[in-house]
Amino acid sequence: MSSAPRVLNGLAIASDIKAEVAGEVATARSAGYTPGLAVVLVGDVPASQIYVRSKVKTCAELGIYSEMITPPATISTEELLAIVASLNARNDIDGILIQLPLPAHVDTPLLLDAVAPEKDVDGFHPVNVGRLLSGTGGDDLLAPCTPAGIMQILKRSAIPVAGQNAVVIGRSNIVGKPVAAMLINASATVTVCHSKTHNLAEITRQADIVVAAIGRPGFLTAEMVRPGATLIDVGINRITGEAELAEFFPPTHPEHADRRALWEKRGSTVVGDIHPAAFAVSGAYTPVPGGVGALTIAMLMKNTLTAARTRREKASRERK
Ligand code: NDP
Repeated sequence: MSSAPRVLNGLAIASDIKAEVAGEVATARSAGYTPGLAVVLVGDVPASQIYVRSKVKTCAELGIYSEMITPPATISTEELLAIVASLNARNDIDGILIQLPLPAHVDTPLLLDAVAPEKDVDGFHPVNVGRLLSGTGGDDLLAPCTPAGIMQILKRSAIPVAGQNAVVIGRSNIVGKPVAAMLINASATVTVCHSKTHNLAEITRQADIVVAAIGRPGFLTAEMVRPGATLIDVGINRITGEAELAEFFPPTHPEHADRRALWEKRGSTVVGDIHPAAFAVSGAYTPVPGGVGALTIAMLMKNTLTAARTRREKASRERK
């Protein structure tokens, strides 16, 4: 009989990373500087407000200075470019994060390109994307936070990556493509699938590692998975209906009692892109919630510290 799958606890890994960052921030502060993050939140999108609040709160917990800039949704691209330019010029700001999505009238690519690459803690600037793709970024690379978090989960859980078949489902610029690049850099053999892929199940059944970043609840089912594979679930999908709940968490399975109780209380629950029945045949998996999602803010904090350190090291080299 195969053994029970390992649950890769993103909350515990994120908490370790945050503790390490807090220690290094304390060292930076005693050396005379405080890493600083500026978050630009345009308009009043409720989900964005929640994300930004938790980023600011985590900064405070780790000793990182943070500042929120909250222009109204009517702000123009030119006015936003001026805000970014002033943040680029400030010595007390090491990281600049522009919370997405921006209002439709704002030129988002132009704005993201305007962030100084050395302050681009989201890792979306073409210079940082290029460094990631060329594999030349080293430890100083400001890489996108969610994919970087996935690599930390694999590394800290001692899941072998080199030489393994990794299949990434999804090719977005924020998750699918960068995680594929990171897996290649870590010497995996990588296949990227998307909505036009033929025979997707045949491909995923060959995988030692599957990263699902699709945005469709329970897309990857047990039949699509090789027993024993490692499953990384990036998806965040809210389900509300009773039929959907029963599909994911059947009342006949006592292990789902807590989740069903939570749904009763809140009227909804969050699930990933991987069906719980697929987790059951895996060797290891990241749960939703409590998996990949937990790492994203921790990696943002790590990037802010890296940006602060790298900029000061560069300035000190230039003074010599
Ligand atoms: P996008 O919508 O940008 O990309 C989704 C990808 O899935 C696309 O490449 C799309 O293919 C592919 N896809 C859609 N349908 C299918 C299908 N039927 N078969 C195969 N591929 C398909 O999403 P994101 O990458 O931004 O996010 C993905 C998920 O991850 C979402 O649930 C999101 O909420 C979550 N997320 C979680 C984060 C975290 O911190 N945990 C951070 C970021 C995202 P195509 O390109 O052909 O359209």
